[in-house]
Amino acid sequence: MAKVICVLYDDPVGGYPKSYARDDIPKLERYPDGQTLPTPAGIDFKPGQLLGSVSGELGLRKFLESNGHKLVVTSDKDGADSVLDRELPDADIVISQPFWPAYMTAARIAKAPKLKLIVTAGIGSDHTDLQAAMERGITVAEVTYCNSISVSEHVVMMILALVRNYIPSYQWVVNKGWNIADCVARSYDVEGMVFGTVAAGRIGLAVLKRLKPFDMKLHYTDRHRLPQSVEKELGLTFHPDVESMVKICDVVSINCPLHPETEHLFNDKLIAKMKRGAYIVNTARGKICDRDAIVRALQSGQLAGYAGDVWFPQPAPKDHPWRTMPHHGMTPHISGSSLSAQARYAAGTREILECWFSGRPIRNEYLIVDKGRLAGVGAHSYSAGNATAGSDEAVKFKKG
Ligand code: NDP
Repeated sequence: MAKVICVLYDDPVGGYPKSYARDDIPKLERYPDGQTLPTPAGIDFKPGQLLGSVSGELGLRKFLESNGHKLVVTSDKDGADSVLDRELPDADIVISQPFWPAYMTAARIAKAPKLKLIVTAGIGSDHTDLQAAMERGITVAEVTYCNSISVSEHVVMMILALVRNYIPSYQWVVNKGWNIADCVARSYDVEGMVFGTVAAGRIGLAVLKRLKPFDMKLHYTDRHRLPQSVEKELGLTFHPDVESMVKICDVVSINCPLHPETEHLFNDKLIAKMKRGAYIVNTARGKICDRDAIVRALQSGQLAGYAGDVWFPQPAPKDHPWRTMPHHGMTPHISGSSLSAQARYAAGTREILECWFSGRPIRNEYLIVDKGRLAGVGAHSYSAGNATAGSDEAVKFKKG
């Protein structure tokens, strides 16, 4: 019998939904590169239901309990008095989503001597101290590709929202105004603008594909170059480093994982090299940007806008300056947690658990850390080390 702790975000303030805006979600067969969608033996939820909140339980309770395991579900994850901390000492498996991450720091891992598996129900395992997991022989897995396309759609939405000045214009309507000049004095077309993505992995490439019909000039930088055929089809320009790319971009989108190599990559120095009036859309991880450097750049006009859904820590404290900085289009961390994405990552989490309990190998493309080293996607896209420092500040949200 295993004890599984599942850390999920809270239910809606009005209670768990009794009905939904739509009756179904499209059925997909494969991801764009041919990878199959999650293949669990079964699921105990209806795709399209809210699964990522506490009452949704990622659809796991029936499966786990009928197999004799114990499931603890909580949203209380921060601070030493949290349910997570109290339940850790005899936990075998911890599951959480990046939207409401259980920060699995070295200290927490040390408190959980039985812990063998940490699952990210989503993509991006930076909330786990990967170095500590490697040293303890803990397997870390995530549901690769489950919400990459969801995020790419969000990125396109945010680019258009910033460049066309959508959010302030919407606000004029809500406030019963008709102030056209106020709306358009910061509104441009994206057509002809230079766009660059930091990383052209699953999300970055999907963003490039989606922006092609907008007639933007498309650039990218990555540790590995895309096949020539893809570069040609999309008309891409490759840059060997981020500096050479950002200095010519009107819009930059960040799509690399957070790991020691990318932590605070966008600092005062790099932002100063960007074109004045550029926009940044960051749906990757908050900590890839230096929090205060972003605020300074928006205040000075070096950046014309910043949008994204990722913060550090999460939940963001109520006085986090990104909530109030000028010209931002921030949302809470939602881009990868659409109801469509939830169905995929809940099924992928179940697939990982089924493999784990039956002793079958977890798909290589789901692995981040295994057998004491970076493995699978982790070996390709991450660097060893720890990016969780400072995550204890997440407790401020609860206290503030
Ligand atoms: P992928 O693994 O497909 O792509 C990541 C890409 O980043 C790879 O091409 C990798 O390069 C590249 N990369 C890694 N380090 C660097 C670096 N230092 N400089 C340039 N490129 C680098 O993952 P996805 O595209 O699916 O997801 C990317 C990230 O987006 C996730 O790690 C996560 O942090 C975030 N995300 C956010 C979500 C949200 O809801 N906001 C949801 C899903 C993901 P290579 O492999 O070639 O070495």
